[in-house]
Amino acid sequence: MITIQELTPIPNIPQTDSKRIVIVGAGFAGLKLAQKLSGTGYQVILLDKNNYHQFQPLLYQVATAALSPSAVSFPLRRIFHKTDNVIFRMAVVRKVDREKKLLETNLGHLNYDILVMSQGASTNFFGNKNIQENAIPMKSTSEALYIRNKIISNYERAINLSNVEEKRPIMNVVIVGGGATGVELAGAIAELRNHVFPKDYPQLSFQNMRVILIEAGPVLLSGLREKSQEKAKLYLEKLGVEVKLNTMVEDYDGFTVKIQDQEPIKTITLLWAAGIKANLLTGLDPVQIAKNGRLIVDEYNRLIGEKDIYILGDQCFQKEEKFPNGHPQVAQVAIQQASNLANNLKSDLKGKDWKPFNYRDLGSMATVGKKMAVVDLPFISFQGIFAWLVWLFVHLMAILGVKNKLIIFITWAWKYLAFDPSLRLLIRPKYVKRNKREWLLDQDELEE
Ligand SMILES: Cc1cc2nc3c(=O)[nH]c(=O)nc-3n(C[C@H](O)[C@H](O)[C@H](O)COP(=O)(O)OP(=O)(O)OC[C@H]3O[C@@H](n4cnc5c(N)ncnc54)[C@H](O)[C@@H]3O)c2cc1C
Repeated sequence: MITIQELTPIPNIPQTDSKRIVIVGAGFAGLKLAQKLSGTGYQVILLDKNNYHQFQPLLYQVATAALSPSAVSFPLRRIFHKTDNVIFRMAVVRKVDREKKLLETNLGHLNYDILVMSQGASTNFFGNKNIQENAIPMKSTSEALYIRNKIISNYERAINLSNVEEKRPIMNVVIVGGGATGVELAGAIAELRNHVFPKDYPQLSFQNMRVILIEAGPVLLSGLREKSQEKAKLYLEKLGVEVKLNTMVEDYDGFTVKIQDQEPIKTITLLWAAGIKANLLTGLDPVQIAKNGRLIVDEYNRLIGEKDIYILGDQCFQKEEKFPNGHPQVAQVAIQQASNLANNLKSDLKGKDWKPFNYRDLGSMATVGKKMAVVDLPFISFQGIFAWLVWLFVHLMAILGVKNKLIIFITWAWKYLAFDPSLRLLIRPKYVKRNKREWLLDQDELEE
């Protein structure tokens, strides 16, 4: 077996006298950290398996043909055009050798002085192999695009069938998970069914299409206030979504959703938004990993037992007095932790003291559909059209790049005025011959 040291170093990475910080993952945390360290005395190497940053909160709009993938994905190289000390490489990081301070990647090895892991999380199927095999997750732009293709191809198929019983499983959509992702997906799919699909497929009766949202717990949007939870359910029901609370999905074979103590549901489209688990690297000490799979850090985001390894965002488990079970796995935590670590690393260069991390909860929100959203701010909670406008504004401001903001603003204005998203294209990737695949750096193959 080849050891990390026997791999060749990643080529063309300049050797400098500056301390080298390697950041794994250019999501909300990794990207913020790299941006805040640009122009400092550190050499920053940013690694990500994709060459773009993904704005996950709007993936559901890609999945429901409201936004194009490029509106929510931002090319990483472009962000660092004018930054000499930040180097980006598209690489899959596999392993860390903590003693030798080396990372193993698909491109070769890379040494670090300081390592920051911000690899986020992936979908949790809670050990059910059938569900993992047959349900569709939505954690990345490519998965969202797959959902768009799947939903559209379902109706292109159903319109050619005459038997209603044959059509139903193809037309029904079941979403599992009553968090923001599940609620937003269910609302957007119901809106497509109510306003768009009947115009696209006039020979199909959309009374045969059920949109069902299943949640194992007693409420939707469990982190929000009771009023917002109830309103979200009400809004969904207004759109015709069947909301099933306290309902446990037991199994799914790609055709039948088995539900504990209830009638099974027939569908070929089960969207899984029921849970996440932190991504991990090989080479860590098991005592550094919490029971929930997240990596245990101190108040400075330093991995326990290490001097030079830091963990940020969804991947880390950090306790605070107000958060004894760790922080929620949301974008604000990742961004604020990255800012705090960047300030501390800059303080190091000036010989100043470090400051511990304190999370400032700015609130939560979710949208269900046109003019229907819920917003919980620390001191006030509101729902309805004003909440919807606030949701639109906050997400527009958060997206990277002026061009993306403009495109999204125009697309939303068009969509909400005309109720006719124009991205219902079924663009299927052409099969790439096996011997040509390596040139595309096929993600699945690299991760094997
Ligand atoms: C569909 C969806 C909707 C969401 N909506 C909201 C919302 O409305 N509000 C909110 O606050 N939060 C939301 N979240 C959660 C939020 O997106 C996460 O909390 C946030 O992205 C965490 O940031 P991060 O930097 O820890 O990880 P991420 O942003 O997930 O970034 C991780 C990065 O690491 C890279 N990576 C992973 N493994 C490797 C590897 N081995 N080698 C190289 N690169 C690797 C990935 O490609 C990715 O770019 C949503 C999440 C999803 C999936």
